[in-house]
Formats: sequence, C-alpha cells, structure tokens
Amino acid sequence: MKIKVNEERCKSCGLCVAFCPKQVLAISDKRNLHGYKVVYFKHPEKCNLCGVCYLMCPDVVFERVGDDE
Ligand code: SF4
Ligand code: SF4
Repeated sequence: MKIKVNEERCKSCGLCVAFCPKQVLAISDKRNLHGYKVVYFKHPEKCNLCGVCYLMCPDVVFERVGDDE
C-alpha cells in the first residue's frame, strides 16, 4: 500500500503538513492549475502509513493505492 497525491486538488492549507506525526510532508514551490502550491512527500522514507493525512485533508488530496496499482 502507498499513498498517491492528487496535486490538482490541493489548496495549500497546510493541515496535513502540521498534523503528520513524522514530518513527512511539505509545501513545494510547484503550483497546480488553480495557482496553489502543492503538498509533496519531502521525507517519504519516514512515512509509516498512519493515515492521518488522508483522513484529515479536507480536499481529498491523498488516496490509498494498493501495491499492485
Ligand atoms: S494536501 Fe490537503 S490538507 Fe494538505 S495542504 Fe493540500 S489541501 Fe491542505
Ligand atoms: S501516512 Fe502518516 S506518516 Fe505518512 S505522510 Fe501521511 S500523516 Fe505522515
């Protein structure tokens, strides 16, 4: 299982960055088509797949995908 990021949905609110217990996430300088700077996995090696980010993002940016996808 891994987590996919749908950059076009991100509104750069920073909630996931603040609440990730492993400080995995950060806001990048890259902007999506709506002009928002998008979130990315700055330290993917620290992610423990706890699920906090995809449970709390108000814009459903994160998606759980199986290893075979
Ligand atoms: S991924 Fe979701 S919670 Fe994180 S900054 Fe983007 S909109 Fe906010
Ligand atoms: S699954 Fe957990 S550890 Fe991984 S990025 Fe999301 S909140 Fe952080």
